[in-house]
Amino acid sequence: MSLVRALCLSCSRVLLVPIAQAQSRELNCPTCGADARVAPSCSYSESDREQFEELSDIVAEAKVTRSEARNSAETVQHALWSSSYTRELERLCVRMPGLLPMQVAAGTNAGAQRRILVKLQTILQALGAAPRGSAEYPIVTDPTQIRVSKG
Ligand SMILES: [Zn+2]
Repeated sequence: MSLVRALCLSCSRVLLVPIAQAQSRELNCPTCGADARVAPSCSYSESDREQFEELSDIVAEAKVTRSEARNSAETVQHALWSSSYTRELERLCVRMPGLLPMQVAAGTNAGAQRRILVKLQTILQALGAAPRGSAEYPIVTDPTQIRVSKG
């Protein structure tokens, strides 16, 4: 079963949902129950889900801003291209201490490091593109949720 990423606009959790469910049903965030939106991405398999959700929690707890998420997604992308996984994970651990146990578990295994970084990039990209808190993209499902913009 292929899974695609969805983003909760309320608590900023990025989750993986089965493609069939993403197409046919309303999605609710398992963490806070708010509406979640599908954000196109590469698909993942069921075996990725646990680590993906753990990473999503870690990123959400670090309270990265939208622009930080966008910048960080780019940095991770560069690290993936240049195979500098160890250094990039060290950088991210400083910002998101919740990553430490995962970094330790991956050790110097480049494949394990890469799997973490690819998921982090997917999560950070979704957050970086999130309409939440933006006056430019007031995309919300429920009209009552639209905040009156200041000025
Ligand atoms: Zn949520």
